[in-house]
Amino acid sequence: MAGRVAVVVVVLLTAIAIWQTRGTGPDLSRVAVVRSPEGIMGTTCTLVAVVPRGREAHAQRGLDAAEQALREVDALMSTYLESSEISAVNRAAADELVSVSEELASVLVYSRDVWRASDGAFDATCRPMIELWRRAGREGSLPADAEMDAARESSSWKDFELLDNGVRKAKDTARLDLGGVAKGFGIDRAFEAIRAAGCDGVLVDVGGDVRVDGVDARGEAWKITVRNPFGPKPLAAFGLAAGSVCTSGDYERFVEIDGVRHSHIIDPRTGRPAGSVPSVTVVATDAMTADAWATALGVLGAEGLDRLPTGVEALLVEGDERSCRMITNREMERRLGEFGKPPCSEQ
Ligand code: AMP
Ligand code: MG
Repeated sequence: MAGRVAVVVVVLLTAIAIWQTRGTGPDLSRVAVVRSPEGIMGTTCTLVAVVPRGREAHAQRGLDAAEQALREVDALMSTYLESSEISAVNRAAADELVSVSEELASVLVYSRDVWRASDGAFDATCRPMIELWRRAGREGSLPADAEMDAARESSSWKDFELLDNGVRKAKDTARLDLGGVAKGFGIDRAFEAIRAAGCDGVLVDVGGDVRVDGVDARGEAWKITVRNPFGPKPLAAFGLAAGSVCTSGDYERFVEIDGVRHSHIIDPRTGRPAGSVPSVTVVATDAMTADAWATALGVLGAEGLDRLPTGVEALLVEGDERSCRMITNREMERRLGEFGKPPCSEQ
């Protein structure tokens, strides 16, 4: 949720809409139908369906379905809601079978796959560590080593059995957190709902994480802007015909204890907040992949680039305000082209 990519796209759309109503634009054949539902995953949300003029009602139906999909994912996977399926799993006692929806089951299986592929860096079972560090932030004092060890040992994938009809835990204390992946899953669901309505272009933006397809109202590829964590000028900008861009980082969401900032991303290997990676942006075909891997690289840093699935692109910012640098994998370097890799402190 740390990312703020692509807000520019929406502003641009509004400008285009005004321009088109004046009748001076060369292409009035398409219209962007935009909706910004509130109360989605605790952040901002923008849904856009670009349709041929006259098909606005189809677009609205797609946006209805997309909004509903996002609310459903929130209702299943939010640890902030006592009534969610994930909260029921977290409350369950050892050996109790908790039946879960197909959606939650698929996100759990995917999360376990990324845990393996990221060598344990992406770990949706790290809820006890997340709770420990949030409490430490509220109380303003660091957790004791023994508390960190206890939190780390109280929950891991070996304590969860993922069955066809539900989930069973081996320990009462094992708990899950899908904060690093559920948003991506929700974006994909919303995206599919809009696309099914038969649109020329789709944009789903939840808290700056986006998935796009087709064209904007001008008939051009969507323009993505990657924010610089240390300055006003964007780090990078590129056109994207189809795919997702998600950003993770510790520059917007962190806990502060004794004046020291600690990332909201936990390194499950140590039980402590991940070392500082101010911002990680991942481009992938779908948002669930981009979301999960942005979080994984928030733990692994540049060393994790080798672990990315084929075709997935990443841009990392390392360092701090005074001395920072951009690191990209080859795929991302190709995308950025002549934009290159200027040191982010010079942006
Ligand atoms: P994101 O903003 O997508 O990187 O997600 C960060 C959120 O994911 C945190 O607020 C936690 O809810 C959760 N989280 C923190 N550390 C991890 C981790 N190592 N693996 C998986 N999820 C995590
Ligand atoms: Mg994520």
